[in-house]
Amino acid sequence: MIDKDFFTLDTGRFRIEGRSRSGHETYYRIRELGIALDLGRCPDLIVSAPQVFVTHAHVDHCAGLAFYAAQRHLQRMPVGRIYVPAEAADGVRELLALHERLANTHFDEVEVVGLAEGDAVRIPRGREVRVHRSTHRVPTNAYEIRESDASLLFYTGDTDRGIFERCEAMFKSEVLIVECSFIEDGDQARALKYRHVHFDDIADVAERFENRMVVLSHFSRRYGRAEIRDEIGRRCPAVLRDRLWLALPEPFQRVGGGD
Ligand SMILES: [Zn+2]
Ligand SMILES: [Zn+2]
Repeated sequence: MIDKDFFTLDTGRFRIEGRSRSGHETYYRIRELGIALDLGRCPDLIVSAPQVFVTHAHVDHCAGLAFYAAQRHLQRMPVGRIYVPAEAADGVRELLALHERLANTHFDEVEVVGLAEGDAVRIPRGREVRVHRSTHRVPTNAYEIRESDASLLFYTGDTDRGIFERCEAMFKSEVLIVECSFIEDGDQARALKYRHVHFDDIADVAERFENRMVVLSHFSRRYGRAEIRDEIGRRCPAVLRDRLWLALPEPFQRVGGGD
């Protein structure tokens, strides 16, 4: 079956492959950086990532944990590290241990590492991932990828607009992947209740984004792809329009010239 939400996005420095739909599945694979961000239901392209940074324990971001571990075992791959918020680490280890018991196997090829705000993890080529915190219903890490002094990428994971006051770093990275689950009028209360971002929240702080690319992600499945592109196209402040990308396949990645 063809995944209609799968997209690739070339940032000039690296290529993001993935899909991101609220409550359904979110993962990103960035081969040039040697990492994955979230693992969703764990498609094959995530299995090969030696370092996977999971933002939080909602199932749409981490349902594939055991599959990742089992595949790396089956294919005799080296140890893969799954990074999760510190609060979720014991639970994830228990989950994997339960799968080991049920399947009478050992997942020796995976290590679960808990990360708190301020932690840093080395990734290939001297780069590092720094841990920030998003504001969501469960403990959620945001991840920033840095190369010496430059911030290459910031990924919020699931969050509400609270992150805008909590984390200035998100506005400074070269590429920002920010969640934007809701876009239409009437859905603002839903965004508040479930602690997600509405496009109005983005528009409110449009002047603060210094990023070269702002990638909106995690759209609710209540909206079709063309509807997302066209609705954001109508609502998008001019200051953001040329730098805005949607985490959707073409021809839905850009919001167009506006009116
Ligand atoms: Zn989610
Ligand atoms: Zn969530």
